[in-house]
Amino acid sequence: MDQSNFRTSYWEQTTFLRSPDVVVVGAGLTGLQAALALKRSQPKCDVLVIERAPIPRGASTRNAGFACFGGPTELLADMDAYGAESTLKTVRERYAGIRALEENYAGRGIDWAKNGGYEVIDEAPVAEMVWARLPELNALLAEVTGVGETWRHQATPYLYGSTLACFHNPFEAQLHPGKLVSLLLADCHRAGVRFLFGCEVDHLGAAAGAVTLEGAGWGSIVAKQALVTVNAFARKLLPADFPEAIRPVRNQILLSKPLPDFKLRGCYHYHEGYVYFRNVGEDRLLIGGARHRAGASSETAAFGPNGVPEAYLLEKLNQWLPSRQWTDEDFPVRWSGIIAQGDGKSPVLRYASEGVLVAGRLAGMGVALSAALARRAADEVIEQF
Ligand SMILES: Cc1cc2nc3c(=O)[nH]c(=O)nc-3n(C[C@H](O)[C@H](O)[C@H](O)COP(=O)(O)OP(=O)(O)OC[C@H]3O[C@@H](n4cnc5c(N)ncnc54)[C@H](O)[C@@H]3O)c2cc1C
Repeated sequence: MDQSNFRTSYWEQTTFLRSPDVVVVGAGLTGLQAALALKRSQPKCDVLVIERAPIPRGASTRNAGFACFGGPTELLADMDAYGAESTLKTVRERYAGIRALEENYAGRGIDWAKNGGYEVIDEAPVAEMVWARLPELNALLAEVTGVGETWRHQATPYLYGSTLACFHNPFEAQLHPGKLVSLLLADCHRAGVRFLFGCEVDHLGAAAGAVTLEGAGWGSIVAKQALVTVNAFARKLLPADFPEAIRPVRNQILLSKPLPDFKLRGCYHYHEGYVYFRNVGEDRLLIGGARHRAGASSETAAFGPNGVPEAYLLEKLNQWLPSRQWTDEDFPVRWSGIIAQGDGKSPVLRYASEGVLVAGRLAGMGVALSAALARRAADEVIEQF
């Protein structure tokens, strides 16, 4: 359609495109939960969510569906890199997010299964390191989970081949991310949150107590405040504010066809969370990640396949589950998703300019973490009213 002579009608301007109090940009887990919290707390506040795609098209509907707080190798690496206090803070929020998901959504058809989390280790020095530091890690986590041994060694119930050690925690769960996002959308609609789908925000400017959002093909909207929850895509929308702090990184996911006699259950972490796998339903295996093998080719905000990590994932499966020869044909369903990396594991919540609050950078574990970030973002917006 030629847009050059297009004008929005008065009817559109006074309904779909009318000025809201708050615009939330991005309908992922963070944006939807923030919009819901905002609307439930301030029913009179007019909240509009603007999403670039016909359905949410970020990480929230394209992830692996782990409701998790992290495996030993990742948490120990985080403790070394960012300190115990910072790691504890993030784990506390992830753990609270798992509890919140369980309380609010587990019983509402999101395929919630609390089979626990596992970490698989197949290198002797790594196994030794985790054995040596497990008491230190568990002492830290005890404050969050309330048990002395959050992670404990458990002989791998389903894996063999060259796995050396396997650790388990009973707190992590799995879910169907698409069903969770659908439920959040339904809850938002019920609460009176408005939506515009298929409207990419190309430009966002704040002046004189108002924020103007513009996009090709749909026009513009003025709001009192904007909450930007575009996560990995923040650098594109706000290049001046986030030159380096939010970095898009592509992850690959492979989902198997139904497999006979498939028994693996639970959420499995490997190598600081770079690789992850789980059962989907009774008879499918999902495996994803391996961006550490992809190098610069994974540093992109563009969706698409990548043969290098995909081949590595198959290689690892053949090592861990050698009862069958895993081939490309076993994985007819594949997709990619974009995560937001940066310096540090805690999410960003800060003003890019007056009236423009950014909440994002949830890295590879935002399913549980997004609840706390959304809550804090909503509280911050409410405070400005
Ligand atoms: C392959 C993969 C596997 C993962 N696995 C897990 C897992 O198992 N467990 C876990 O906890 N976490 C996992 N994650 C991370 C988790 O999915 C994210 O941290 C979380 O979904 C982030 O949610 P969000 O709402 O902040 O961002 P997103 O879900 O990315 O949402 C951002 C939204 O903004 C929209 N948008 C972007 N730009 C614009 C614009 N200019 N205008 C309008 N709209 C815009 C996008 O279309 C999108 O819908 C995974 C991520 C990936 C990619």
